[in-house]
Amino acid sequence: MNTDLSMAASLDALSPQYDPWDPIRSLSAYGRHKLTSVEMSVTNLCNMRCEHCAVGDSLVFREPAKIPLELMLRRLDEVEHLETISITGGEPSYSEQTVREYIVPILQYARSRGIRSQLNSNVTLDYGRYALIAPYLDVMHISFNYTSADDFHQVGFAKSGHDIPRAAAVRMYERMMENARRLSEEGVLVSAESMINFRTHRKMKEIHRLIAEMGCVRHEVHPMYPSAFARDLPVISKAEMMAAVHDLLDARENSIWMLFGTLPFFRCSEDETERALIARLAAEPNVTVRNDPDGRNRLNVNMFTGEVFVTDFSEVPAFGNIHSERLDDVFGRWLSHPLFRSVDCHCAAAACCGPNLLVKDMYYRDVDFNSRQAIL
Ligand code: SF4
Repeated sequence: MNTDLSMAASLDALSPQYDPWDPIRSLSAYGRHKLTSVEMSVTNLCNMRCEHCAVGDSLVFREPAKIPLELMLRRLDEVEHLETISITGGEPSYSEQTVREYIVPILQYARSRGIRSQLNSNVTLDYGRYALIAPYLDVMHISFNYTSADDFHQVGFAKSGHDIPRAAAVRMYERMMENARRLSEEGVLVSAESMINFRTHRKMKEIHRLIAEMGCVRHEVHPMYPSAFARDLPVISKAEMMAAVHDLLDARENSIWMLFGTLPFFRCSEDETERALIARLAAEPNVTVRNDPDGRNRLNVNMFTGEVFVTDFSEVPAFGNIHSERLDDVFGRWLSHPLFRSVDCHCAAAACCGPNLLVKDMYYRDVDFNSRQAIL
């Protein structure tokens, strides 16, 4: 039997009861935040130019050499409590060389150490790319914010700067759906992420239905916050966000794991409707609310410069570099940073460990979360 597959079989299945990306698990286990997750940005190339792309400003057409694989693997090996890795881009599979020389060896390392892995991809390229990766991968994470191929055409190329023929976009859309189905059949957990934003907030039910049709095991849902690339997009109100979540819960396919993240609602809110929503999410079967990993149990490494980022919140530039530091040491320094302290609350009874920095900045600038308490 293939040892990679036998190792996969011996690990606990990812499920609503077991989500090692959620920082609440390590916080409960160790009594303080620990670095258990490392994300690696392996490319700034992408075949799409999405309207909402979190890294849109950095997308390029050519890129320099990456840091040596051996350095990255050594830094991963030093992380004492490592449980998960994520690989992101751009489109990580854009270059087959990157797939063969970085992605596959990193995933093989993870599998050999019993670490769970995720790749963030648009899965619109030839299936052969993904077939190289699938045997070693736990979670294929895709973005899905569409109700049709025309939606995909409009949203997925909004920032391309020139017209993309509709027929080409339709082919990519169909390939994405077909690849997602094939990966699910291969046993990879395909998790589709949708953002609640001005375009999608009234269409979440329809988006969810297509995600179910693609065979995805999980539907991940986050509100969209105005990152640099999306700063000019309209913002929806918290009430509209709340309505979209309720609509989705009313209409969802119960067999699909719904994972919500970076919500701006907390059990310590004075607003009863916000507390009621969080209570509903906690009571629904097969629904989880993941605490934000960024800067709580996860660091991000830029694979071109070795720079380490703790969060995509713009006020925190690179916080270290793997050329000169161990990742556990960078993380340890971050835990005493005033910005981290400003969101470092924990209410065990609510399974909550505080807001995302962007959420705090947008909605709770003057709120001292350390003096708040869940109202149960
Ligand atoms: S952990 Fe923080 S954000 Fe969550 S309920 Fe408690 S005080 Fe509020």
